Amino acid sequence: MPSLLSPSLLLTYAFAAALVAGLLLKFWLASRQARHVAQHRGAVPAPFAARIALTAHQKAADYTLARTRFGLLQLAFGSAVLLGWTLLGGLDVLNQALLAWLGGGMLQQLALLGCFALISGLLDLPAQLYQTFVLEQRFGFNQMTPRLWLADLAKSTLLGALIGLPLAALVLWLMHAAGPLWWLWAWAAWMGFNLLLMVVYPLFIAPLFNKFQPLADEALRTRVTALMQRCGFTARGLFVMDGSRRSAHANAYFTGFGAAKRVVFYDTLLKQLSGDEVEAVLAHELGHFHHKHIARRLVALFALTLVGFALLGWLSTRGWFYTGLGVVPNLSLEGSAPNDALALLLFLLAAPVFTVFLTPLMAQLSRKHEFQADAYAAAQADGGQLASALLKLYEDNASTLTPDPVYARFYYSHPPATERLARLPAAPLQGATP
Ligand SMILES: [Zn+2]
Repeated sequence: MPSLLSPSLLLTYAFAAALVAGLLLKFWLASRQARHVAQHRGAVPAPFAARIALTAHQKAADYTLARTRFGLLQLAFGSAVLLGWTLLGGLDVLNQALLAWLGGGMLQQLALLGCFALISGLLDLPAQLYQTFVLEQRFGFNQMTPRLWLADLAKSTLLGALIGLPLAALVLWLMHAAGPLWWLWAWAAWMGFNLLLMVVYPLFIAPLFNKFQPLADEALRTRVTALMQRCGFTARGLFVMDGSRRSAHANAYFTGFGAAKRVVFYDTLLKQLSGDEVEAVLAHELGHFHHKHIARRLVALFALTLVGFALLGWLSTRGWFYTGLGVVPNLSLEGSAPNDALALLLFLLAAPVFTVFLTPLMAQLSRKHEFQADAYAAAQADGGQLASALLKLYEDNASTLTPDPVYARFYYSHPPATERLARLPAAPLQGATP
């Protein structure tokens, strides 16, 4: 008996220990961040004093503090829910109830995934509502009406079901029918699905939520086209997205592959930045393409997912994987009641508890890429204009200029303002906001 029990108990301990360690680490980081931002709330850091008003600096501090505090609440709640699903037996109860109702089979497994997604979504709703209508609202960022919010929710739930259920059915079928190497097939299916989504998303899904109009500003179009030619890029189109329907936060991005690339500007970005600055921001994005960051990230993601699927392939055949995470597997009913959906859910729930410790590595790599893209922008466009654009975006998005260095090391995908601007020419003052 002990030899049967010990791997299971070991997994329980490892899971609980990683969860607690992760929680302590995140609480420590968040408290550092809050303390640091609060301590520097009183004065704009010297390098930015000429450009950023004290009121804007203090708004950024208050916004950062409010979000950090809310993040801690969400962290505590999310961890309780995770424990509820796993060690406290929530997933087991749901699985048994659905087994009793539907018997074992594909329908029961899809129902298990569907119910799990639905319950998780419902548990998330209060936090989402608070974030949009209280937190973002208080700082003047929210532009959503409750009606638009509900329409978004209905659309994304429907889309999730339409896309997610067939994909889940395919993966479950492969797990059941494709033999011991099912995880290789499932990985290939998942990869194909992701590539397909990259093509389908900008053409069919994004337009369900936003309006995309060809960039009408002739002068801006000319200079953006010239920049792209200079850098050796082709794009299928330049579009403006009505990001202002939902939020005052600004952004710009690329979608699609190769020559089918589309450039999308948020209307909020075009409103905040001058033509020179937009050009510099776009040159930064082109820098990511020039250095093949996007392709490399995709390859890294696929490689990591392969490791994940292989691990899942092995774990799903071990009884202790289920019992160690609070679920009784259907071993006695082998064949008639497969455990595939259970294995998938347990893996998706447990893996982040362990992979969270890789966050600083990913963040470090991402920051390196940002520096490279900035250097490219400074070479192909005007680095001073990029600095000016970044400052405006920091100010308009109320991003703090004084994050805690350790917090930034751990989480930040983009270098903190001081480090990033130090490597660019000084922002021209004539572009300063009045
Ligand atoms: Zn970037």
